[in-house]
Amino acid sequence: MIRTDKNRPIHLIINPHSGYGGRKLLIAELRDQIRQAGMELTEYTTRAPEDATAYARSIVSRAAAAVVWGGDGTVNEVAGALAGSDVPVLPCPAGTENLLAKELKIPSSPRGIVDVLTNGQVVDCDVGQINERSFLLIIGVGFDGEVVRRVTGTRTGHISHLSYFWPIWRTFWEHDFPRMRIEADGREIFNDFGLAFIGNISRYAVGLRICRDAMFDDGLLDLVVFTCREQTALMLHAAWTLLRVHPLKGNVAYHQVRRARIETDRAVPSQVDGDLGPNTPLDISVSPRRLKLLIPPARSRWNLWPWKGVSPL
Ligand SMILES: [Mg+2]
Repeated sequence: MIRTDKNRPIHLIINPHSGYGGRKLLIAELRDQIRQAGMELTEYTTRAPEDATAYARSIVSRAAAAVVWGGDGTVNEVAGALAGSDVPVLPCPAGTENLLAKELKIPSSPRGIVDVLTNGQVVDCDVGQINERSFLLIIGVGFDGEVVRRVTGTRTGHISHLSYFWPIWRTFWEHDFPRMRIEADGREIFNDFGLAFIGNISRYAVGLRICRDAMFDDGLLDLVVFTCREQTALMLHAAWTLLRVHPLKGNVAYHQVRRARIETDRAVPSQVDGDLGPNTPLDISVSPRRLKLLIPPARSRWNLWPWKGVSPL
């Protein structure tokens, strides 16, 4: 059980603009249940982007845990501030996508979340670096960087899956695949037209598992590169990924790496944990076991990796 006192309460960080951020009843129930379980609680509601980072930084030495009520973007902000500290982060599935919460099997009900606080375990999670920025989930270079750039350009508030439809459709028809040179752990592993993903976890949007063998605590990043020059090849890659038979099919490279450098024939945008990231060239690396996470109790470690053993490489 997370031990709290007046000087070291649990901090509940709420992003009111996330998918379930405005669900005041759910938040009230969570608040009540945490207190009923005998834990001290302090709350903070974010007001603007980067606000969660600033707040998380301010609680490093006075928090028993940080419960994040928001989507992956808010989790990323809090994690960036708490990496390297001893404050564990519990990401609640309260946003649009919640890739990290889903990967960790965090329940969505207030009762389930309190159960993680009382019976859960603290694990160490790797943190990725892309240029000067950190990431926890997955980055994409090329196609999906362009999609996120378009979504960000038209964003007016809360983002739903529907917000991605037209940007994906237009990017699909208009995208000009860049030539990429990728060096990983000191050797060139790719020099062709395509798109690349680097994952700390296996999940990608809408349930796709692009980096399907990625584990958040193995000190490695999973690098997947699809050779792709035109739209039909991208459709095949997408189909194989949906069927979860990549990387056995098609021109797909799958590597586990500690660092990578990605250069392209022209600057292309990247996607970092669902947000717009830096343009190429990109320097990517991993800081092993840098962030503490609170996850459900370990009934069986294999519960976390249900697809393992189903279709081994
Ligand atoms: Mg890993």
